[in-house]
Amino acid sequence: MPMERTFSIIKPDATARNLTGAINAMIEQAGLRIVAQKRVRITKDQAEAFYAVHKERPFFRELVDFMVSGPVVVQVLQGDNAILRYRDIMGATDPAKAAAGTIRKSHAKSIGENSVHGSDAPETAVKEIAQFFSENEIVG
Ligand code: GDP
Repeated sequence: MPMERTFSIIKPDATARNLTGAINAMIEQAGLRIVAQKRVRITKDQAEAFYAVHKERPFFRELVDFMVSGPVVVQVLQGDNAILRYRDIMGATDPAKAAAGTIRKSHAKSIGENSVHGSDAPETAVKEIAQFFSENEIVG
């Protein structure tokens, strides 16, 4: 298993409900290490750039508005096979379809307000991490 890094966001619905610690506990209990973390408000430009792949989707505007609606916690997670493992820990995009014990099953409000983001592939992880962190902010 390769040692990997993935990019995570604890989204505004979760920070609003004071769930940062509960979600971090689930991440750490699953064996991933939080090697960088900061609480920020992202700008509309940042949200649009981050989700550019979805810009033709009907929910794009709603998604951008949601992501700028409150603080988020951006993170870098490290561990064996971290990208796929974090996708498993997060659960399906729609919490109604997420497996028991996943972050989204436990905490997400809806398919849009679904508490967490995690990179979907090695190339996107590198790109997303670089959007929010410089290398000297990541301490493994
Ligand atoms: P993810 O990789 O599991 O986060 O899912 P996607 O890459 O397919 O979608 C990105 C994000 O867009 C999701 O996490 C949701 O926040 C949002 N999203 C996806 N589908 C819908 C939808 O049908 N409605 C709304 N409002 N948001 C959606």
